[in-house]
Amino acid sequence: MNIIRLLPLKGNLTLCQTRYLSCWSCGQDIKQLVENLFCSNCKSLQQPPKENYFKILGVSETYDQNENELAKKFKELQKYLHPDKFGNKPKEEQEISENYSSLVNESYNTLLNPLTRGIYMLRLSGKEIPEETEVKDQAFLMMIMEKNEEVENAETEEEIMKLNKENKELMNQLQKQVSQAFNDGDLKLVLKLLSQMKYYTSIDQQIRNLIRSKGIIR
Ligand SMILES: [Zn+2]
Repeated sequence: MNIIRLLPLKGNLTLCQTRYLSCWSCGQDIKQLVENLFCSNCKSLQQPPKENYFKILGVSETYDQNENELAKKFKELQKYLHPDKFGNKPKEEQEISENYSSLVNESYNTLLNPLTRGIYMLRLSGKEIPEETEVKDQAFLMMIMEKNEEVENAETEEEIMKLNKENKELMNQLQKQVSQAFNDGDLKLVLKLLSQMKYYTSIDQQIRNLIRSKGIIR
């Protein structure tokens, strides 16, 4: 109960340093890309940004992310990267588009979830995340155990939705604390808070399952 596994992150964190400075296809120097993706001269799709997931999605590199904004960026990029648009393009460009598209998916999924976003940012900061992180705070663990029981015993829609609301509020509070800790550069605290967030995320998943199995319409 008091050991948690932080999600192992897929993908290459050490994406290289810089984006190509000239177009791979026509060789023109690249200052600004069309839609942030294409060479302005020959319209070829360029390689994705190498730095990190934030750059790939074109959002600011901060813990505070707006879910709607992330979804908008994601949909925009996937629209441009749709395989249909590259059917008649050279093989090299098709490969770039496939790779780009899967990186966009990976970036979006990682940054959308407050837990994986935090873990990813910690890793970008060079902080090693232990495979298993122990939460030693007994009071916290007791509280989580009680919450788990409450969720298990919840019967009525009213009870379930009350627990859902409470848990969502707690998760929001935690997110604010994580954001503050990142701003303060207190990575140790970030790690502690993310370890706690893992439990709330698990409770959230249980509640979601309950809501689905009871056929509650929100
Ligand atoms: Zn070009």
